[in-house]
Amino acid sequence: MRFVSPALKHIVFPALSWSGYLRYTAGAGPAVVTYHGVFPARYEVRNPALDGNLVHTDSLRRQLQLLKKRYRVISPEDFLRWSEEELSLPPHSILLTCDDALRNTLTEMVPILQELGLSCLFFATGASAEETPSMLWYEELYLMLLDASESITVSIPEAGVSIGPIAPNRKHSCWWNLVERLSQFDRELRRRFLDQVRDQLGLSEDWGTRLVENSTVACRFLTLDREGLRQLVAAGMTIGAHSLSHPILARAPEGLAWREISESRSVLEKALGLTVWAFGYPFGNAATVTGRDLRLAEEAGFRCAFMNIGGGFGAKINRFAVPRVHVTADMSLFEFEAHISGFYRSMRKRLLGGDELEAVVGA
Ligand SMILES: [Zn+2]
Repeated sequence: MRFVSPALKHIVFPALSWSGYLRYTAGAGPAVVTYHGVFPARYEVRNPALDGNLVHTDSLRRQLQLLKKRYRVISPEDFLRWSEEELSLPPHSILLTCDDALRNTLTEMVPILQELGLSCLFFATGASAEETPSMLWYEELYLMLLDASESITVSIPEAGVSIGPIAPNRKHSCWWNLVERLSQFDRELRRRFLDQVRDQLGLSEDWGTRLVENSTVACRFLTLDREGLRQLVAAGMTIGAHSLSHPILARAPEGLAWREISESRSVLEKALGLTVWAFGYPFGNAATVTGRDLRLAEEAGFRCAFMNIGGGFGAKINRFAVPRVHVTADMSLFEFEAHISGFYRSMRKRLLGGDELEAVVGA
């Protein structure tokens, strides 16, 4: 859960940033930040819940300029060497990461990274090792529900799904319910169930194809294909694995979770001819990742694995549950720095008690 009151956002965080307090009180590093892509030019935000993880190009540039000016952005390889105690890092070191490998990372994000001379660790799913691009299934499902006009019941007895009628104000909760249910199945079976959902929502068979005919929409929602990943590597970026098909691992039986984790590494390594040493847990919060998944990531041969919660300087770092600051579209520059510095995490802990990561790695 994230809480940011207007007073924190507009008064407290700016004052702490301007005074230098955030920088001088920051604990030992390193800190890791997570992006999820950048809005393509002319893209109109469709829905805050669907689009809230991406950032605007000007926000990204300002955030990276701040990191360059006040902190020290390190390479993914230096982070790995530090995590294995082969390298010590200077204070205030920061690693940049980005999940999902959407097409916009190549078209919108990499040019800014290159302009500023920075490198980033991109987590791609196994689908990006293929020759044709695709959509993240849970985003496709969200778009289906947004496009369905009527209050409709979705029923897939084979998958144990019976939801509805889905009123407009219940779309988000119904969507997450479906994501949880369908995460129990592998990619092929889940595809079949998604097609059934699409039919029951009254959408045409070519609904998905027509959606991405618009190049701006394609740039927002399609993931990179194999050639796109190779271009990321050629641009000096590092590739990590993000599971085969982005299920909620905590909802997948162990055999499926193992394949999702271990095979994502092998298909990406084969497609790129490179060693893939990092894993990013899909969704990456305490409700979607369990201690079992941390064990599987280690057994699959990854050398470190990343969550998507906690983070900031001073955070305790477990090599298979590295905390990360999740950057969102609505985050102001001062709020961003409050997260990076670790101030937000300690404030949250003082007010709410406990740490989000403790539920996964144990206190
Ligand atoms: Zn993801």
